[in-house]
Amino acid sequence: MAVDSRLCADLHCHSTVSDGVLTPQVLARRAFTQGVTLWSLTDHDEISGQTEAREAARMLGMTYLTGVEISVTWAARTVHIVGLGFDPDDRVLETGLRETRSGREARARRIGDNFARLGIPGVFEGALQYAGNPDLVSRTHFARFLVQAGHCPDVQSVFDRYLSDDGIANEPMQWTSLENAVRWIHDAGGRAVIAHPGRYHYNATQFSALFDAFKDLGGEAIEVVTGSHTPAQFIEYAAIARGYGFMASCGSDFHSPSESRHDLGSLPSLPADLTPVWDSLV
Ligand code: AMP
Ligand code: MN
Ligand code: MN
Ligand code: MN
Repeated sequence: MAVDSRLCADLHCHSTVSDGVLTPQVLARRAFTQGVTLWSLTDHDEISGQTEAREAARMLGMTYLTGVEISVTWAARTVHIVGLGFDPDDRVLETGLRETRSGREARARRIGDNFARLGIPGVFEGALQYAGNPDLVSRTHFARFLVQAGHCPDVQSVFDRYLSDDGIANEPMQWTSLENAVRWIHDAGGRAVIAHPGRYHYNATQFSALFDAFKDLGGEAIEVVTGSHTPAQFIEYAAIARGYGFMASCGSDFHSPSESRHDLGSLPSLPADLTPVWDSLV
């Protein structure tokens, strides 16, 4: 089925509930102002912003899909799986997300220790001041603190210098399995989406294995148009969606007006021949 051209969809962004800087309500207003008509808030490993987001969307007349971005470890690297359109009151999903969040504080302390060894003390405490949700300290909060403290000029430089997946101050995490994340989303009635596939540092064999494994688990979609992809990658992952029979999703992955390259609702539409992930959901 062709994309409904009346919809401007943005199905990936972050609020203060995870590592965004705007509250769900302010984000909703920004999405609306930017022309978004189908919206989802997809905080990392956390759905406590969903009620506020849905209510704000309703007041503004935007169609809303529940959302989350689950951290997964697959082949020793982190993959993000977005869930859309699930029941936010599902107990198994809530328990799974709570367990997924549970290792974050200890990991954040280890990252702080790594910075102390590099001669920069007080970084864990500094990052915590930037976390709107103490349960969800993310590398982005560390990056914001280090910029504010004058150690790097901007958030991207912190990742480049210290905190990328292979960065000298990063701490690898063992997140939940791909199987668990997809099962939690499905059992709660939602659709599972591989977020920003172009960001993962897998070789071609590993990518094929990831897409095969996701397909075998019943995974429905991949992000084709995302703020993390270049225009060439929009084309590359549209071809992957066609080849594997995946539905396609799109989202800015907006975190902050001053950090994000792409604002809410600012990306091009999905290629018209792809089935959008919201097909028959809205
Ligand atoms: P965490 O869940 O704590 O591992 O943090 C992941 C978050 O850090 C992502 O959702 C992005 O917001 C940010 N991030 C990860 N890698 C990079 C990168 N290379 N450049 C900029 N931001 C990044
Ligand atoms: Mn993030
Ligand atoms: Mn992500
Ligand atoms: Mn994201």
